[in-house]
Amino acid sequence: MASPMSASGFLKALRAEGLTVVEVGDWRNHNRNHKGPWGPVHGVMIHHTVTKGSARTVEICRDGYADLPGPLCHGVITKDGRVHLVGYGRANHAGLGDDDVLRAVIAEKALPSDNEKNTDGNRHFYGFECENLGDGQDPWPAAQLEAIERAAAAVCRHHGWTERSVIGHLEWQPGKVDPRGFTMTAMRTRIRDRLK
Ligand SMILES: [Zn+2]
Repeated sequence: MASPMSASGFLKALRAEGLTVVEVGDWRNHNRNHKGPWGPVHGVMIHHTVTKGSARTVEICRDGYADLPGPLCHGVITKDGRVHLVGYGRANHAGLGDDDVLRAVIAEKALPSDNEKNTDGNRHFYGFECENLGDGQDPWPAAQLEAIERAAAAVCRHHGWTERSVIGHLEWQPGKVDPRGFTMTAMRTRIRDRLK
């Protein structure tokens, strides 16, 4: 159980972890807080965007779609390894997921399989969208994977969480496949090693 970092604290934590951060527009005040609560926060969720082109990807994640308004995450991690901050606060990234998974994240235990959509994830997770087509073919450059590792570690370090507080969207909500192209188990191992 933790209160969300301030926007400035989030920016500072990412930079302290060695990331190149790009601030997009009025990201500190772009959120969905009028639609529901933000916090307490319990973890970090990783996604892929199913988009091509960094500029377009960042734009979509900031603005969203007609039936899914932005921001669609807090940070967009492009293929060059930069983190673009598009929003802060409640964001439309996690949707409804499994309360058993949330309990496991809070306890930092092994994850059960996600088979229910009964819990508001946008309230409880920081979200990073990663530029990738999500087709299993589009490559994940080393710089991008390292940025995912660093971004997740930055949040965990601030809150005193372990790598078990970092999950993929596919581990949260039935039917989701993201991120595709690397495993969350491998990514958690990298985060664990970074946090040592
Ligand atoms: Zn997702």
